[in-house]
Order: sequence, then structure tokens, then C-alpha cells
Amino acid sequence: MARRTLGTIREPARDVDVVHETDVLVVGSGPAGLAAALAGARAGVEVTLVERFGCFGGNITAVGVEGMAWYRHEDTVDAGGIARELEERAHAMGAAVPESQSLSYELDAEGFKVVADVLVEEAGIRPMLHRTFVAPILEADAITGIVTESKAGREAILARRVIDATGDADVAHRAGAPTYLTPREEMLAASVMFHLAGVDKAAFLAGVAADRHTYADWRGEGEWDIETTGKEDDLFSPFLSEPFKRAVADGVVPADLTTIGGTWGAVHDTGELTYLNLVHLAGIDGTDPDDLTRGEIEGRRQAMHAIETLRRYTPGCENARLRNFGMTLGIRDTRKIDAAYNLTADDVRNEARFDDSVGIYPEFIDGYGILILPTTGRYYQLPYRNLLPKGVRRLLVAGRSTGGDRVAHASTRNMSCCAVLGQAAGIAAAQSLKVGCELDAVRIAAVQQELERQGVRYV
Ligand SMILES: Cc1cc2nc3c(=O)[nH]c(=O)nc-3n(C[C@H](O)[C@H](O)[C@H](O)COP(=O)(O)OP(=O)(O)OC[C@H]3O[C@@H](n4cnc5c(N)ncnc54)[C@H](O)[C@@H]3O)c2cc1C
Repeated sequence: MARRTLGTIREPARDVDVVHETDVLVVGSGPAGLAAALAGARAGVEVTLVERFGCFGGNITAVGVEGMAWYRHEDTVDAGGIARELEERAHAMGAAVPESQSLSYELDAEGFKVVADVLVEEAGIRPMLHRTFVAPILEADAITGIVTESKAGREAILARRVIDATGDADVAHRAGAPTYLTPREEMLAASVMFHLAGVDKAAFLAGVAADRHTYADWRGEGEWDIETTGKEDDLFSPFLSEPFKRAVADGVVPADLTTIGGTWGAVHDTGELTYLNLVHLAGIDGTDPDDLTRGEIEGRRQAMHAIETLRRYTPGCENARLRNFGMTLGIRDTRKIDAAYNLTADDVRNEARFDDSVGIYPEFIDGYGILILPTTGRYYQLPYRNLLPKGVRRLLVAGRSTGGDRVAHASTRNMSCCAVLGQAAGIAAAQSLKVGCELDAVRIAAVQQELERQGVRYV
């Protein structure tokens, strides 16, 4: 839907200082951007990482999404590499705990800020925080840098290769690569995430054990259809729904607020209950600042209802209080590029194989009414072409804005998959610079060799 305006003004042309030049410029530092920057630097090129916020980590640190691999079970096969390293390094640095439903670690959203700082510094990446990408610098159809906006005004950064890891394909879109948005009314819901303090861990866990929830409970009572393979239905899920039904019935929460409910992440001895994924806001387009404004305010309102409900009806939460909201509204679904190859539902459901595979991801689908957990060892390969936007040279796109249909997105949007895609992008960008070829001409065997050296499984 076109945004309504009151007309236009003409911005005067201006000269912009070039403040930095680099081999590979990564824009956005979520699981994809962080992995891209680390992989590029480890492959031996100079890397710069630009981020609009004051910390690296993307949704992990900015939104408070702590479940890096909650899908992992005994037989799950995944790529390893930086995706796994992020969990393990966080655990080693005291910024992750074992996750309740899987063989993975729950990250500590705050502690991970320091983990990311250390990883970036160790790899010799040039950090550039507090800069928002606003415009590409183009020479014909090739991107040669970006313009950022910050407290210093506009600055230009020149680069020989650019990786768009903004999650919203901001760079690709503004550079003119074709992108598409899911219709607003069909977009995955946005969420205000929050964390609590003052929870009695023992009482909370006793309540969870007494009222054990499974993934089958995600179905709700008809209002939320969800497709599983059946094998998910009896597995434990850290899910909360009953308190919210009671709160609506008792008039504690307005009768129209039946969408509150969902999962919790970790409960700590010190009384924090974190990664509360309970607020789901439909119809929020994360590329529209008016929608974002509405989502932030409405999301916080709903979160306060959720907290009041937990205090009244959930064992161990009687004295709970809000510890913090995520720094920003959590957005799941915005622009995707029309890539050289767009992944399909069939690919992610049926173990796709590709000659240009640059990583694998387990058959894990979470979104658009589907929940499939990779408990059987099934997995698909990720093709390099999935990172290549059309129409713009010297640019790769990694993370949740790579090309694919909705079901494919429900799989690849997951943070560890974004990290696999990012690692491949960083290596491919480095490889194209080393041999002096365009990104669509990199020798896949050379990329695969470096992936192997960096510990990534791609077959
Ligand atoms: C509420 C919620 C719960 C979720 N739960 C899970 C879960 O449990 N497990 C899971 O695996 N996934 C989960 N997801 C999905 C997952 O978090 C995202 O799909 C994933 O983080 C995408 O990674 P990314 O690196 O592509 O982008 P992001 O993590 O979004 O990172 C993008 C980065 O780019 C920066 N950026 C954006 N635009 C600009 C710009 N113009 N200039 C400079 N920097 C910019 C952002 O600040 C951010 O740091 C959840 C998502 C949400 C919203």
C-alpha cells in the first residue's frame, strides 16, 4: 500500500565526506551480518561492520530474541560454523544457559552484546556503530559504497563488496534490486519482547511441571491453526496460554485481547524470567515508521496486561516486575529480494540439494501456520544463488531477506540459518576479491573449501 503524503519537497544536493574505505562492507550486525563479517575477516580480507544501534547482534541484542537453536534434538543435523560458535562462545563467556526444550543454549540478550564486541575485535573487523545506512553509492549497476546518517550527519563509506544484512533488504531495495513484501495483512506478527525480574524460580518451574505444555498447545482452540507432522505434538514446549484465557474470562484483560500468549525462554536463580514472547501484533509493516510507532506503543500496552496476568495466575510470578523491554519492536517479516534462486516450500520440506550449496539447515519450519521440528535428521542445502540480488553487482544479501516463498522464509528466517547464510556471504565476498571476479562468477568449489576450513557443513 502506498504511503500517504502531503506532497514532496526537494532535498538540496550536497557533498558528503568519505570517512572510510574497505574491502567488504557489511551493513547490519544480526546473526547474518555478524557471521558475514567474521567469516570475511577470517577469510583474509578487510571487513567493516556498520550498525544503526549501539551494539552488535541484531534481534538477539536489540529485540531480546534468545533462542538461537531451540529446534535442536538428538538427531538434528546442522551446519555448525559460526551459528554454533555464537552459542558456544556465549556459554563460555557466561552469556548463555542450557535451553529448556532442546539441545541448545539460550543466549543472554544483554551479555551477548559483550560476546559480539569480543568476536568483532578478535577478528580485526572495523566496527562502525550508530550509523544508519540511508543510500547506496552506485556506479552504473555496481554498488561501490554507502551513505550513512548519524549524529555526525551524512558520511560516505566506500567498499569493493557490500553485504546487505539489514534484515529488511534496505541496501538492495534502495540500490534498485527487485524486492517484494508480503501483503501487510499476511505478514508474520510483530512482537514487543520483554523480560521480568522477581520471579521465584522453584515455584515457577514447579508450576510448569504440574501443567506440562507441548507444541500441540500452540494450536489454541481453533483460533490458531497449526500444521505439524504429528511427531512434534507430545514434545515439551515452554508455552503459556492458560493464564491469559483466565485473565480474559475474569475481565483482567480486555475481552478482545485473545492473542496474548506464547513462549518463555529462561528462568534464572536470580529471579529473571527472560525472552517472553507473548505479544503478537498483526498488520505491522516493519518498513513503515507509522506502523512501527503503533506497534511499539500497542505492544507495550499489551505487555503490561501480560505481566499483570502472570502476577495473578502464574505460580512464582506473584512478585514479578518488568525488568526491560527489547530496545526495539521485534519484526519477523519484511522485504525479501528476488534472488538468482528463490527457495521454495518444496525445497525446505523435501531436503533440496544444490550444486552451489554453501550450507545446510535442518528441516525446521516455524511460521505461517506450520511447525516442523527437525527431530529426524532431515535437512536441506542452501544455494549460493539465494544470496545474489538481481540487477545490482558487487552486492550480496544475507539473513532473513534472502529470496524465497513464505514457507521457505518460515525456515530460513531462523537465526542460525541467517548465520549460515551470512557466513557463506562473507566467504564468497572475500573469494571474489581475492580472484578479482564478480560475485556471480565466484568459483563455488573455492567457497566450499573455505567453508570447510571454517568448519561449516554444506553437503
Ligand atoms: C519476536 C521475535 C521472536 C523470534 N524468535 C526467534 C527464535 O526463537 N529463534 C530464531 O532462530 N529466530 C527467531 N526470530 C527470528 C529472528 O530473530 C530473525 O529472523 C533473525 O534475527 C534475522 O537475522 P538477520 O541477521 O537477518 O537480521 P536482524 O537480526 O534483524 O539484524 C539486522 C541488523 O541490521 C541493523 N539494521 C537494519 N537496518 C539498518 C540500516 N538501515 N542501517 C544500519 N543497520 C541496520 C539492525 O539494527 C540489526 O542489528 C524471532 C523474531 C522475532 C521478531
